[in-house]
Amino acid sequence: MGVREIVNQNAKNGTLVISHPACLAHDMGEGHPERPDRLRAIERVLESEAFQMLARDAAPRADLAAIARVHPQDYIEAIRAAAPKEGLIALDADTSMSAGSFEAALRAAGGAVFAVDEVMGGKVRNAFVSTRPPGHHAEIATPMGFCFFNNAAIAARHAQAAHGAEHVAIMDFDVHHGNGTQHIFWDDASVMYASTHQMPHYPGTGAVGERGEHNQIVNAPLRAGDGGEAFREAMEIAILPRIEAFSPDLVIISAGFDAHRRDPLGNLNFVEADYAWATRKLMEIARKTSGERVVSVLEGGYDLEGLARSVGAHVTTLMEA
Ligand SMILES: [Zn+2]
Repeated sequence: MGVREIVNQNAKNGTLVISHPACLAHDMGEGHPERPDRLRAIERVLESEAFQMLARDAAPRADLAAIARVHPQDYIEAIRAAAPKEGLIALDADTSMSAGSFEAALRAAGGAVFAVDEVMGGKVRNAFVSTRPPGHHAEIATPMGFCFFNNAAIAARHAQAAHGAEHVAIMDFDVHHGNGTQHIFWDDASVMYASTHQMPHYPGTGAVGERGEHNQIVNAPLRAGDGGEAFREAMEIAILPRIEAFSPDLVIISAGFDAHRRDPLGNLNFVEADYAWATRKLMEIARKTSGERVVSVLEGGYDLEGLARSVGAHVTTLMEA
């Protein structure tokens, strides 16, 4: 056994990063912001010395049964059938499939499911799933906004069905509102969805008054130009006390980094320290309510430098004792 393997065995009590090369083969065309280089930029940061203690695993393909807890079987089959043998096919104005897209989508959902297995099974304290396509815009039976399967929602339902989690909280700090996740859990009292996002902005949902059937959806919209101070205030006042009161058995982070000030798709001004702060706050709640269990799933983030530095800060925080 080499030194690296021993180090990684030790790290099993710590933080796990999950990815898969198949996620690089999903291509939406020249110039599309949701591009394979996003994962390469993250991987370059996580290769550095500071991250040697991370445990790493390859994302397995999700079982179709796990995806089917969120999306109907015929939708899953329609997405599989839509993938072209070569070239691109557009499913909406900004969401396309290439030959590798279905496999990538299976790995992204499967990475989230595997992260739940490892964290709920006590093998690691927390996990970051560095995969694409993202998921939070995916509706129950409609691909949307670069998303095909709702990875965070699939992870939440898996934690409940396979590991007996009763309450799962999903915190989404992507610059865009997670319309899909909100709709999926709109009338589900067992899953809390909380979001900070720019508003007005794509996709248009996420007003404060959208609270779900059981008052378990919490939207804290921010205005274009807002930065870390407004974000932290929204978290402190509107969101964190609600997540703690919900007493989740698992905290899932829909970790989009497109609220970073460098990002071309948003107009918020977060910096790396804001992501570290939010991660630490969510970990504090998880320590009190869920045995520290946190699963973080990559969503957006389109400036390669902003994305890589933000993920670096996020994962560094996940690794803190
Ligand atoms: Zn986004």
